[in-house]
Amino acid sequence: MNDTTTTEPTAATDATILTQLVDHASPMSVCFETLIEYAANRRATDFFCAANRDGFRVFMRCDGVLYELGQVERDWGVHFINYVNILCRNPVSDHKHPVDGRILIHDGDSPIDMRVSIMPTFFGEELAIRILDGRFRLVNLESLGMLPDQCECVEELIHRRSGLILVSGRTGSGKTTTLYSILKKLNDGTRKINTLEDPVECEIPGVFQSQVDSAHGQDFPDLLRALLRHAPDVIMVGEIRDPETAEVAVQAATSGHLVFATVHAPTAAQTIFSLLQLGVNPHVLAGAINAVIAQDMLHTPCPACAEAVDVPAGFSLEAAKAVMGESFEPHPRQRKGCEQCNQRGYRGLTGIFEVLEVTPELRELIRNGESPSAVSKLAMENGMLSLSTSAEVAFACGRTTVEEMYSILTTQSGQF
Ligand SMILES: [Zn+2]
Repeated sequence: MNDTTTTEPTAATDATILTQLVDHASPMSVCFETLIEYAANRRATDFFCAANRDGFRVFMRCDGVLYELGQVERDWGVHFINYVNILCRNPVSDHKHPVDGRILIHDGDSPIDMRVSIMPTFFGEELAIRILDGRFRLVNLESLGMLPDQCECVEELIHRRSGLILVSGRTGSGKTTTLYSILKKLNDGTRKINTLEDPVECEIPGVFQSQVDSAHGQDFPDLLRALLRHAPDVIMVGEIRDPETAEVAVQAATSGHLVFATVHAPTAAQTIFSLLQLGVNPHVLAGAINAVIAQDMLHTPCPACAEAVDVPAGFSLEAAKAVMGESFEPHPRQRKGCEQCNQRGYRGLTGIFEVLEVTPELRELIRNGESPSAVSKLAMENGMLSLSTSAEVAFACGRTTVEEMYSILTTQSGQF
């Protein structure tokens, strides 16, 4: 996440890149590649070109925030979307139905993979491009914001030969990035690693990756069953959303495979209960599950303009100090705003984590169907750092702001 090779959006460049392309009447192929490379280099996840009353608005999303690239004439927007349709091999004449496609371009040596969707809107059409940029996917857990004790625990857990490890969090909390980081660690040539993904977001040499395509009748549980006949050591399943996938994933974990999957749940303890709610037998789950990693992403104050700040009145950093050790000196920062961060005060994201290792005592609680709060309580007595504590540490280290920390403390306090 703290990738120093990445350039961030700046107000000055954003305003000119599109204007330059339009003013020079650059060919659409040049416009497309320049804009996509520009967006990808700023770690944009989405690129949009949407019709409005006056023409088309071009914008992108970086770190969850929209950045304006400019307003263009209607003709330019129509040509641009037509060009994207050609790249996707879609019929250019069909402006009445939503269409989608996929495009791959190469920026130097690195591929930029895109999922395209075009839909009719009131003023014309809207183009949305999801940028699946592999270059920023393969990072270490430490650089994602995982704390040293948590990294050590995960390192031990992922080197077991079998069992289920779940990664949970809301949409956009970086679950896939964490899974890719783990696969990167395991991918040393000694294990056969297979993945089932929707979509494959990043190519990892040496890993056998399959893309699930539910729209064309490839359904997740069937593919997973087929995959088991290909003798993998490690399996990464995308998201567990349905009872059948949950069941096959748990079975695979109890039959000699190390299985990784994501689940949409707010805390580590609640993740276990989401699986029970999908109908997984508590005895089987208790035997299969080794760990849950719950996570979230918080905005980082812009390094160019962040200022030191006092700890808010009535708030204590004792918990953070206990985690970081005796000699730790907190250095919280607040956001300000400058040209480099478009006056927002934020640049980049940092992860916070909750790593729940399932011990024999916890297996007993799961087997007996105890509540998430009972599981969480015991895990914390065993030394688990909660998402709240991880957010406090991130604030104490200046990796996030007090507002971002409080947003986690508020949601987490409502969980039990
Ligand atoms: Zn700034």
